[in-house]
Amino acid sequence: MSEIDKLYTAVLGLEAPWRVERVETQLDAGEVHVWVALPKGERWVCPECLTVAPIHDHQDRQWRHLDTCQFKTVIHARVPRLNCPTHGIRQLAVPWGEPGSQFTAMFEALAIDWLKQASVSAVAKYLRISWDEAAGIQGRAVRRGLARREAVAPRFVGIDETAFQKRHEYVTVVSDLERGIVLDVADDRKQTSLDGFWQRLTPEQRTSIEGVAMDMWGPYIQSTREHLPGADAKIVFDKFHVAQHLNVAVDLVRRSEHRRLLADGFSPLSRTKYDWLKHPGTTTHAEKCALAELRGRVERLGRAWALKETAMAIFDLKAPWAADRNFKTWLFGAMRSKLEPIKHVARMLQRHWGQLRNYFVHRITNAGSESMNARIQRVKARSCGFRNRKRFRDAIFFHCGGLDLYPAGVSRGQ
Ligand SMILES: [Zn+2]
Repeated sequence: MSEIDKLYTAVLGLEAPWRVERVETQLDAGEVHVWVALPKGERWVCPECLTVAPIHDHQDRQWRHLDTCQFKTVIHARVPRLNCPTHGIRQLAVPWGEPGSQFTAMFEALAIDWLKQASVSAVAKYLRISWDEAAGIQGRAVRRGLARREAVAPRFVGIDETAFQKRHEYVTVVSDLERGIVLDVADDRKQTSLDGFWQRLTPEQRTSIEGVAMDMWGPYIQSTREHLPGADAKIVFDKFHVAQHLNVAVDLVRRSEHRRLLADGFSPLSRTKYDWLKHPGTTTHAEKCALAELRGRVERLGRAWALKETAMAIFDLKAPWAADRNFKTWLFGAMRSKLEPIKHVARMLQRHWGQLRNYFVHRITNAGSESMNARIQRVKARSCGFRNRKRFRDAIFFHCGGLDLYPAGVSRGQ
C-alpha cells in the first residue's frame, strides 16, 4: 500500500475488509477522489437479517466526505447488491455512510453542526453542496431523530398555532412544557390537526397528562375533549392568550376613538398604538405619566385599558376562590362598560371561566410554548421563509425538537 493510500485509509477511518484501492488528485478542480474496494470471493450478509446472501450485482456509488487539506473529497466504491432469500435485493451496508445517503456520516454530522447555526442556503454555499442536498441532510436528521425518540409521557403540554409564511396559513405545534421541546407539528389549526397527536399517544400516555395549555380555540378544545380523559379539568386557557384577546379589544377601542376624534379635528392618539399594549411592568415613569394623561383625555379608551389591566391582575392571585370573586366583579364592570370589543372578550372569558380557572390549580401557561413560538419565529426569520410546510416542519423539529440528529456512529454533543 502506498503512503497516500495509507493516509486515506486513516483519514476515512476505513476498516477491513474495506481498503483504499487508489487515490486520484485533481489539482485543477481542487478535488481528491478515493476508490475503496472489497476483496473478491468473500461472502457478505444481508443488512436486514445478517444472514449470508449471494451477490446479485454491483452498483457504482460515490459519497462526499469531509474536505482533506481543503480538497473536496469524494469516496467511490462498487458496492455489492445481495440477493437475500428473505429480503430480496439489498445493498451491502457501508460503514462510512447511512443507506441512501450521498454523504459520509462524518460529512452529514458536520453539515448538521452548521445547520444548527446557519440557514440552509448558507450551509449549502459553505459546504459546496446544493440547497436541496443541504435540506435533505436536515430532513434525514429529523427523521432519524424522530425514529430514535423514546416514547415519553409528558405531564404538561402546550398547544399553539404558528403562522407559516402567508397570513392565515398555520401549523399546529404541540410542545412538552416541562422539557421545552416540540412534540408534534401538524398542518392547519383544525380539529384534525390536533387529533393526530392525541391518537398517536397510548392510553397510558394520555392518562399521564395533567394539564394542557391552549388558547380558547374551538377546534383544539373539541379535539382535546374527545381524546383526553377528564379534559375539562386539564385544559388551561392560557393567560397570554387572554392578554392577546384583550389587547386586540383595547386596540379596536383606540382605533374607533381615534377616528371619532379626528373627525372632530384633532386626535392625541396618533402613533400611540403600542403604548396601550405594553405591560405596565416594562414602561418608564415618563411613559406611565404620558399614558395616564391620555387616559384622562380619552375616557372610553382609558376605561378599556383599565379593564384589560384588572383582568390580567386576576391571574396574579393565589387562591381559586379569590380569582372567582374578582372575575365576577370584573365581568360585571366589563359588561356594563358600553365598550363592545371589551364586552365581546368578556363574554368569551365568561364562557370559558371553568378552564381559565384551572390555571389556579395547574399553574401552567404557554409561556413555555410562547417562547417556543418565539424560537420558531427566529428559525423562520433566519431561513427567509419556507418553500412548503414539510420544510417548515423539518426546521421546527430540527431546531426545537430536542432530537438526536446525528448519523449512527458519529457522536456529537447536543
Ligand atoms: Zn435478509
